Amino acid sequence: MQQITDLFPLLNVPKTVVIVMHQKPDADAMGSSLGLYHVLTALGHSVTVISPTNWADWLKWIKGADKVVDYELNGAKANDALAKAELIFCLDFNTLSRARKMAEPIARSSAIRILIDHHQQPQEEMFTYGISDTSKSSTSEMIFDFIIASGNGDKIHLAIAECLYAGVMTDTGSFRFSSTTASVHRMVACLKDTGFDHARVHEKLFDNFLENRLRFTGHALLNCMEIFYEYNSALICIPWKDLVKFQIRTGDSEGLVNYPLTIQGIKFSALIIDRDEEIKCSFRSKGGFDVNSYARQYFEGGGHFNAAGGRSSDTLEKAAQKFRASLKENALQLQ
Ligand code: 5GP
Ligand code: MN
Repeated sequence: MQQITDLFPLLNVPKTVVIVMHQKPDADAMGSSLGLYHVLTALGHSVTVISPTNWADWLKWIKGADKVVDYELNGAKANDALAKAELIFCLDFNTLSRARKMAEPIARSSAIRILIDHHQQPQEEMFTYGISDTSKSSTSEMIFDFIIASGNGDKIHLAIAECLYAGVMTDTGSFRFSSTTASVHRMVACLKDTGFDHARVHEKLFDNFLENRLRFTGHALLNCMEIFYEYNSALICIPWKDLVKFQIRTGDSEGLVNYPLTIQGIKFSALIIDRDEEIKCSFRSKGGFDVNSYARQYFEGGGHFNAAGGRSSDTLEKAAQKFRASLKENALQLQ
């Protein structure tokens, strides 16, 4: 994989570009993709943004989200864009499997593939140019760096500021995680100079749910959470019937896995959800327990040191049993 700066000369001539984010995109995937979309469009490129799956309603306010193609809904349009693309940017994921059904057409494409991502263990051989930096708070911060380094800082206007702020603010847990460097704050200062309203972004992202989501959260914490004090760990396990009962939609369970970490002493939290189509897992830790390695070892996943995800092809109960048994195996690291 060549350095991302080697790509800059190619951007001097208008190109046909596709930007892809990971399945079930979060605010960083959507914000970084749309931030890059606005800049490349301003530079005269023809850009299509594709998501492998649908996304949460509370991301739909981001400028340009209405133009994002849902691969599951509109595969023909997406495949056409992929076939015509000269450049494919892959943002906020680093293994093609995270693009689900798009993995194959992306791998088959003759376009130049570019990686911009901050997760661990990238599939570097799949990309011609790129930057993979696990020290970065968010892919949105990396897009900001990309815009500045390519000499396009003057293109950062209000809509781009909103996109990138949404990504960096959510991926840093509202500027709380240790990934929140001085550079992150300098970036936010620069974004604020465009005049964008950061309070509006917080409201759109955190005060924009329906009643059922809050009632579901209450139910999950009251009835579905187990605490394992001897391992400083917690598990929330959600059956499919609860998702149906509370009319849970994409994005509604985001953040739930963080609640157990608010209990004194709890350092490792897992959320296992039966989504019917698959069992989806989320892992979060505080301090020295590496959930990226954990997710790779036990649940076909990966991510960051303190935040990772995965899946299981077992039943919900078997996946939960596997989690409980894994605590014993990791007892030393969980002390
Ligand atoms: P979440 O629990 O919010 O789905 O994901 C937490 C972090 O891990 C995110 O940065 C996400 O991109 C990453 N992640 C989630 N699921 C997977 C997975 O199956 N494989 C890999 N490599 N990363 C994942
Ligand atoms: Mn991210």
